[in-house]
Formats: sequence, structure tokens, C-alpha cells
Amino acid sequence: MELRLEGVSHRYGDVEVIRNIDLSLPQGQITCIVGPSGCGKSTLLRFLGGLERPTSGQVVQLGEPPADSLNPLTYVFQDFALLPWRSVEGNISLILRDHGVRGARAEAIIADVLARTKLSDFRKALPKQLSGGMKQRVAIARALAVNPAVLLMDEPLSALDSQTRDLLMDDLVGLWQRAPFTACYVTHNLAEAVRLGHRIVVLSRRPGQIREVVEIDTPLAERQGDDPALDRVQAHLWGLMRAEAEAADMELLDE
Ligand code: ADP
Ligand code: MG
Repeated sequence: MELRLEGVSHRYGDVEVIRNIDLSLPQGQITCIVGPSGCGKSTLLRFLGGLERPTSGQVVQLGEPPADSLNPLTYVFQDFALLPWRSVEGNISLILRDHGVRGARAEAIIADVLARTKLSDFRKALPKQLSGGMKQRVAIARALAVNPAVLLMDEPLSALDSQTRDLLMDDLVGLWQRAPFTACYVTHNLAEAVRLGHRIVVLSRRPGQIREVVEIDTPLAERQGDDPALDRVQAHLWGLMRAEAEAADMELLDE
């Protein structure tokens, strides 16, 4: 299934937030969206997931989600959004139950996603017993459990320290290698975009418009370590972002 934004613009009252965005999320690829704070990244993700409708333009779905997808458009948020009183497996089983999946089928799905996210030994743990990185693994396991057609990730690693971020990026690459998924990954962190994105969409400051779409051919599995080509991509992205970020900063101060 492919998701596409066509001519999407948006205003909140008098404030123009998004201007005329055309963007497609190719199947089996990770599309990263980067841009300065307040440029409309989270808003675009809400449009993609159908949580909110743009003032004009449309969100188009091409093709059908997998037949066994319980929730075709699934979010992963920065703050994990786990229920604190439920264990790791309890957080996942609750979502499955919401979709009518219980018993042996639920058990099999839980075992599978916990193994894929290296959480099998932690199934009885409560969120408060887990580090930030582990909590986000649980949130990712929970998202995978519903077999989404498109994973919508809003700054999923932004609350984590840089070492944990590196580990989770490796995990996401491993998950993608074993079963390529379609994702829209929003971040303000260019290193994440260069590590995880098949395509990187650079937005301007508000109102968010597409400045450039950068494609990276290097396979995800080969993006570890020093790679001058990837450094150049990151420097190029920073060149695009820097002026936008500075201008956005000045605007916020004026408000
Ligand atoms: P980003 O995720 O890129 O930081 P957002 O999409 O969260 O940006 O927000 C874009 C702009 O829209 C910001 O100026 C924000 O203050 C504004 N905004 C977001 N949601 C609302 C809302 N529900 N009502 C009014 N303004 C909003
Ligand atoms: Mg945001």
C-alpha cells in the first residue's frame, strides 16, 4: 500500500502551517521528513494517519493494506505512550484485544514481536522498570504487532541519549532488513535521517514547503561507520536546514 499527499495545504486560524505539499511514501521504503521546529512535520504525519484533515488537498491511499493488517496506519511517538500499570506483554495484548485478537493467536504475535525487538526476557516487566530505549522498543513491538501497512514515526528517538539512539537505529535497520516495512519517519536529527532514510524530504520553516527531496542509494545495512559520501549528504542537508532553522528561531522570538 502506498500513501500520498496531493496538494496539501493547511491553516490553523490565521496561521498558514503547510503550503502545497505533494509527497508519496513508496512501499517498502523509509521516507524521512526533516525540518525546523514548528514547520509542520507532526501535522503532516497526522494527515497521513487520518487523525486530522488538511484545509485543502487530499490524502490518497493506493492499493490495499495486507489482509492480516489489524491497523494499517500505526503511530510510534516520542513519549512511548505505554500504559504504566501494564507489563510489556500487557501493553501489546491490550492493543491486540482492541482488534479482537486473543488466545493462541495473540500469544504467537506477542512472542514474535518480542523476539524481533529483543524483548523476550522482559515480557513481565513494567514500563517503570525499563530504560527509555527499552520503553521505545516496547512501543515499536506494539506497533509491529498490528502489522501496519505504514508505520508513522514522530521523533521516535528524540527522548533518548545518543548511545541509545544509535542502538535503536541499528535495531530499526535490522527489523527493516528482515522484513522491509513502509514508514514515514519524522525527525529534526539529520544523523537519524541519513542512517534510516531511503529518501529524505527537507521542509522549509513554517509554512512548511518541500525544499528538496534527497535520495540515498547506499543500502541501510551499509551505512555504519565513516562514509564520506554519507557525510556529504548530511552536510548538504545541514546547509539546507541551517538557514531555515535560524529564520524559524528568529520568528519564534518575535511571537
Ligand atoms: P513540527 O512537528 O514540525 O515541530 P507541528 O506540526 O507540530 O510542527 O506544528 C506546526 C505549526 O502548527 C506550529 O506553529 C504549531 O504551533 C501549529 N499547530 C500545531 N497544532 C496546532 C493546533 N492544533 N492548533 C493550532 N496550531 C497548531
Ligand atoms: Mg513535531
